[in-house]
Amino acid sequence: MPVSGLPPYDDGNIFARILRGEIPARKVFEDKHALAFHDIAPQAPVHVLVIPKGRYVSVADFSTQAGAEEVAGFWRAVGQVAKQLGLEGQGFRVLTNMGADGGQEVPHFHVHIFGGKRLGAMLV
Ligand code: IMP
Repeated sequence: MPVSGLPPYDDGNIFARILRGEIPARKVFEDKHALAFHDIAPQAPVHVLVIPKGRYVSVADFSTQAGAEEVAGFWRAVGQVAKQLGLEGQGFRVLTNMGADGGQEVPHFHVHIFGGKRLGAMLV
């Protein structure tokens, strides 16, 4: 069960389907722990999603249920993706939405990487 109050992990969610290769994605990075691909509705010049390969609904699940190697591997992948996309020099933003109040739409833990322009203040 997820720890976040969200429903249990749904293997039919769109990111699970991307992981299984059932839906195409513009992949930018993949290793044992993570997959990164361009967001289908970009909100910045660079907008990439990084997802773990494990079945975690949200950051609450990932941070409490994933093993140390998985957590480290995921965050290393986030750093590698930012570097690969050439974002390190000018900077970038990493964001995750969690649950209803956080505006999470896809119930497979993911982080957004935004970059490619001077980003404004966060909306609340
Ligand atoms: P959330 O609100 O943090 O859950 O964001 C989900 C993100 O997934 C949104 O930015 C969507 O544009 C993106 N998204 C939804 N379906 C797809 C897809 O099939 N490919 C790539 N991105 C997607």
